[in-house]
Amino acid sequence: MNYNKRTIRDVDVSGKKVLLRCDFNVPQDKKTGEITDDKRIRAALPTIRYLLEQGAAVIACSHLGKPDATFADFVKKQVEKGRKAEELTEADWRKSLKKLSMAPVAQRLGELLGSEVILAEDVIGPDAQAKAAALMPGQLLLLENTRFEKGETKNDPAVSRALAALAGEDGVYVSDAFGTVHRAHASTAGVAAFLPAVSGLLIEKELEIMGKALTDPARPFVAVMGGAKVSDKIGVISNLLEKADSILIGGGMAYTFLKAQGFEIGASLLEADRLDYAREMLEKAAKLGKRMLLPVDTAVHTAFENVETPRYVDVDAIPADCMGLDIGPKTVELFAEAIRGAGTVVWNGPMGVFEMPAFAEGTKAVARALAESGAVTIVGGGDSAAAVEQLGFAEKMTHISTGGGASLEFLEGKELPGVACLLDK
Ligand code: ADP
Ligand code: MG
Repeated sequence: MNYNKRTIRDVDVSGKKVLLRCDFNVPQDKKTGEITDDKRIRAALPTIRYLLEQGAAVIACSHLGKPDATFADFVKKQVEKGRKAEELTEADWRKSLKKLSMAPVAQRLGELLGSEVILAEDVIGPDAQAKAAALMPGQLLLLENTRFEKGETKNDPAVSRALAALAGEDGVYVSDAFGTVHRAHASTAGVAAFLPAVSGLLIEKELEIMGKALTDPARPFVAVMGGAKVSDKIGVISNLLEKADSILIGGGMAYTFLKAQGFEIGASLLEADRLDYAREMLEKAAKLGKRMLLPVDTAVHTAFENVETPRYVDVDAIPADCMGLDIGPKTVELFAEAIRGAGTVVWNGPMGVFEMPAFAEGTKAVARALAESGAVTIVGGGDSAAAVEQLGFAEKMTHISTGGGASLEFLEGKELPGVACLLDK
């Protein structure tokens, strides 16, 4: 996959209308609808400001949550939740849509920018068309939730064409919603068939740093894998095993690998149906001459709960009634040693159940090793990013990928429809 894509710096947007796909899928308070974390809105500001300063008229759009685009979809989902179809009205459906309106996003965006944000009442309907047509250079219009259109998630060309038409004849499409580039939707991929398509500043950074790590990394390239399950990460492990020089495995997935090596893992997380895969990967690493490191000691406890002080045992002495919940201090030393001399480190997946303070030590120590390594350090994955932030190491990393699912598919080396559709450099 080619990660070398044109960006907003490579096109002239002055006096043009730009359709800008953002990721404004922000968390909201269920009752009040208040935005509880505006990080994603803030992250979009540099691209928006750049476009406005260049004299573009900006038509921004995003999805928010999972609205039911039709009444029939609404009824189906509610019935699955146990409600009776006869009791549901169109008014109920409209009320559910209102909760996922972009209005609070428009307001917060306006506050952050310190300038007016015009909100359209629809996505590609008459109000959006009229407001887009009247939009002047330096002005910002926000469309309603793209998933209000039933063709959006189906990548319906009619929706893509209508979105593109809002930007007019010499319009430009800018994609800056990294969190959705793994989805081929009308506003994330399809629209690029109808307008010249380039990346915004957020995607530019993701492609530059992660793209380089996957195609031309500074070596040695060390991959650190963890998290809950082997099955979630098969694609990532397989791809990074090809590309990296060493691969370190911690977290819940490590116990399946340890079991595959013949250790007794007690009540630790085991995916019996992945033992063969784990064995294959161990053999493959040996054949390719790559270093694959597994934990040599582990924190154990009799239940999935926090404790006062963790108890550590070697991996050949895991008691039958205990589960492994973190890597131990000897493993930390082993992993830190491998990370110390690295040129590039890609990290996906916490080393333990970091949500419980007693079992956050391994994750913290690995974060510190990355921070002190001097290597290009990249963190991918939703929980990994949260862990690094929670433990106070966010500023010390070269790059924390913003898209959870998208960054995993990136690390798997999969073709990302929202990136593939952009113009090559
Ligand atoms: P990411 O979102 O970064 O890709 P994952 O979703 O794969 O990461 O994994 C994160 C989860 O893995 C965390 O909630 C963490 O508690 C869990 N986890 C880590 N180690 C263990 C373990 N030893 N046993 C059970 N769960 C674990
Ligand atoms: Mg996760």
